[in-house]
Amino acid sequence: MNPPLHRPVWAEVDLDAIRNNAAVLKAHARVEHLMAVVKADGYGHGAVPVARAALEGGATWLGVALVEEGIALRDAGITAPVLVLSEPPAEAAAALLAAELTPTVYTHGFAAALTAAAGDGVVDVHLKLDTGMRRVGLAEEFWEPAFARLAASPSLRVAGIWSHLAVGDEAGNAFNELQGERFARGLAMAEAVGLRPDLRHLCNSGGTTLYPALHHDMVRTGIALYGLEAAPGVKLEGLRPAMSIRTRLSLVKRVQPGDTVSYGRRWTATEPTVIGTVPAGYADGIRRGLTGKGQATHRGRRVPMAGTVCMDQLLVDLGPDADAEAGDDVWLLGGPAEDPVTAEDWAAWLDTITYEVTCGIGARIPRVHL
Ligand code: PLP
Repeated sequence: MNPPLHRPVWAEVDLDAIRNNAAVLKAHARVEHLMAVVKADGYGHGAVPVARAALEGGATWLGVALVEEGIALRDAGITAPVLVLSEPPAEAAAALLAAELTPTVYTHGFAAALTAAAGDGVVDVHLKLDTGMRRVGLAEEFWEPAFARLAASPSLRVAGIWSHLAVGDEAGNAFNELQGERFARGLAMAEAVGLRPDLRHLCNSGGTTLYPALHHDMVRTGIALYGLEAAPGVKLEGLRPAMSIRTRLSLVKRVQPGDTVSYGRRWTATEPTVIGTVPAGYADGIRRGLTGKGQATHRGRRVPMAGTVCMDQLLVDLGPDADAEAGDDVWLLGGPAEDPVTAEDWAAWLDTITYEVTCGIGARIPRVHL
């Protein structure tokens, strides 16, 4: 493929990997419904192409954080069910319904806003229970009265009941069982007052991978869909990372022992070596925290970053005997190497999680969907 015209830095997103990953997750979960979580522009991969690929791979639902994200999917012609994962402000209720998005509900105020926006119609809602995350969701003390009110509502139909795991990515953590039990109790209470949700769902990628007993009718997968570990060191067999970041050396130069490289003179050559300049930096989400830690691959080999990562450029130590020239491919993530740099590597270098790595790849880097 042709690189972007004026600066050869781009993220390649392998849609076949997304299709494959959706199929792997669905086969593993053995549930009828798989939600592809495509919020935050598909974790930085591009929400619309990822959503289409995930649906082709067997996903039946899409999950977004914002009404705007759901509208963008609709504007692209995607008709699959889309769940908005938290309540937006009440003023957004009409726009949410106009775009035929499915609302999550957990407050009386938003239920009232939806009822008003519904007019004479009936709106399918997914009721979110707080089973321990304490972020959003209906607190347990309100379950009974809320269930009773919803059972009597002529405007709102509880089509789904769901919750979210706080430590789904921790194998053997008893808090998952506790959340699972609270969720089961909530479902039983809801059913006792006549609520008959089509879909009950609790698991994110971690829960999907580690806690089959909690799968219910649907699992909501984000990070694993993108082919990254669902929990530290844990990845279902067959999942493939979808994102690579490819660039080309803009300059190659020889340095001598004692020469320093980049801002702050934080890196000093200890032997004659070849330094390559890479035209991407922290303004692209190639974070400055990678200074002294990050690596890239060049001609199939890992090479360390040298010196401080700059706003638009960074440097790599290609080694004393490097066979390198300007224009050579350099991969900051993924690419054709036996040991490609992974988002998990980045997360370790930056003391963060892979989610923040891919979401943080800047808008200046075009996404090229393969
Ligand atoms: N469900 C909800 C409510 C979420 O907020 C998220 C992501 O944060 C997910 C599912 C997907 O999580 P993961 O990327 O760990 O699969």
